[in-house]
Amino acid sequence: MKPRNIVILTGAGVSAESGVPTFRGPDGLWEGHHIEAVATPQAFRRDPLLVQRFYDARRAALGKVVPNAAHLALARLDAEWRGELLLVTQNVDDLHERGGSQRLLHMHGELQRALCTACGTAPAWTGALSDDPPCPRCGAARLRPDIVWFGEMPYHMDEIEMAIGRCDLFVSIGTSGAVYPAAGFVTQAQRAGARTLEINLDPSAGTPLFDEARHGPAGTQVPKWVDEMLG
Ligand code: NAD
Ligand code: ZN
Repeated sequence: MKPRNIVILTGAGVSAESGVPTFRGPDGLWEGHHIEAVATPQAFRRDPLLVQRFYDARRAALGKVVPNAAHLALARLDAEWRGELLLVTQNVDDLHERGGSQRLLHMHGELQRALCTACGTAPAWTGALSDDPPCPRCGAARLRPDIVWFGEMPYHMDEIEMAIGRCDLFVSIGTSGAVYPAAGFVTQAQRAGARTLEINLDPSAGTPLFDEARHGPAGTQVPKWVDEMLG
């Protein structure tokens, strides 16, 4: 039976072929840094300048990359799929929106947004934060990257869990299945009666949990899957 409501979860693997390095590359580091040194609130308290410079560099690097065939195929599915569809990304890059996806939520925040720790506003941001610019709303020089760090609560969880509860197909693309709560979505989807599909370069920690797994680069596997869905 053809599914009607789809939830798609993407991770760093979907952007790898655009030239954005994944989190736990072969060396277990993110762009040469230990994850604990750049992606926790403790790291930011300990060495704010290092953390700001790290994300400033990631934000600036977005100007040098473009969406790949996987982003474009997911945008085509979004545009043409008549049922419900929600693309939940763990990625903090903007390649899904530049690819054209509309029904999209960033559960781990966005590089191109700042978060004011004084007033809570989250303005769009394309420049640097390491030079402590003032908040456009309250004027305090207390902006941090709007990134959900380890130990912080991911965004949009109510909306995501509602969509998972209603979906009949859950697809996970390019994610290692190691970061919770996203790693638990497959089990929640199965409990809701959905079929589950993994698309990843290699088998992941979560592979045994899925009804079906397809292994290979997202840039090849995702367009093929989208053709099947729309065919
Ligand atoms: P991860 O780096 O832990 O895992 C990436 C997965 O993608 C691996 O399983 C790998 O085998 C697979 N992969 C690599 N190349 C692939 C390809 N060409 N096609 C298909 N799959 C491929 O990433 P994750 O699970 O998303 O980890 C989550 C955290 O990493 C998030 O919190 C996110 O914010 C952060 N992160 C984001 C970006 C980004 O925005 N592009 C980049 C690095 C890290
Ligand atoms: Zn403010």
